[in-house]
Amino acid sequence: MSDAGAGRTMVDIKAVHKSFGTLEVLRGIDLEVRAGEVTVVLGPSGSGKSTLLRTINHLEKVDSGWISVDGSLVGYRRESKTAARRAFGKGGGGRRVGDKLYELREREVLKQRTQIGFVFQNFNLFPHLTVLENITEAPVSALKRPRKEALDSARKLLDRVGLADKADAYPKQLSGGQQQRVAIARALALEPKLLLFDEPTSALDPELVGEVLDVIKDLALQGTTMIVVTHEIGFAREVADTVVFMDDGRIVEQGAPGDVLDAPRHDRTKAFLSKVL
Ligand code: ADP
Ligand code: MG
Repeated sequence: MSDAGAGRTMVDIKAVHKSFGTLEVLRGIDLEVRAGEVTVVLGPSGSGKSTLLRTINHLEKVDSGWISVDGSLVGYRRESKTAARRAFGKGGGGRRVGDKLYELREREVLKQRTQIGFVFQNFNLFPHLTVLENITEAPVSALKRPRKEALDSARKLLDRVGLADKADAYPKQLSGGQQQRVAIARALALEPKLLLFDEPTSALDPELVGEVLDVIKDLALQGTTMIVVTHEIGFAREVADTVVFMDDGRIVEQGAPGDVLDAPRHDRTKAFLSKVL
């Protein structure tokens, strides 16, 4: 990724609602993320942060509203009625939603998802694959990259996250911090337009948090567009362009770190910060 085109809208979230049964988890989310920027999402447990991230790469479908990443609707295609009839006329998939939105097929969703990297709290590496195999698996199988090319770029990525000497190790031979850095390298191997992090350091021993945050900071300096859910306020202050505070399925407050963290306007933001600071 480069910062070419920095400033254009990379993620656009409009009026997104999501319920699980009768529990409304996202209650009308509007959020815009510009290319090259880092957005840190804060909020108490259960406020909907993970669900929001999961809707951005269509691991969860929204009930209403829409999300676009780099100008493409996530999970849907917008088409004129006639064009769509031509495309789907002969019993093709793509359930019609409203007048002009057509749900993408699973294969198309998967393709879209390769452009959005996701780093989970618990690393989620494949335990039976080496570090190098973990990183090359998706580029080779999903993007059909030649193995040699994928290996070369995996080694470069390992170098970038400070793990050049761990290429042949298995995940269980690594510390949590090292595993998470491999997970970041694996996400980068697909050259995503956007990286999503869901509490990337929450499962780590305190002394390992810094090495992972340093890698994320380095990505930020290189202009990687990222949305990071974290409770690391120091990181938010230093790295975020925008801090978003969520509570009870809503964005309560958002703005520059100096505003939201040092001069929160809402009582709920103040109460949350007084607990985590
Ligand atoms: P956060 O990441 O801020 O802690 P989540 O987005 O994980 O919040 O969860 C928000 C709420 O949605 C919680 O009450 C959680 O229990 C509920 N929830 C999340 N995923 C599901 C699901 N797949 N089915 C039912 N409830 C869910
Ligand atoms: Mg969560």
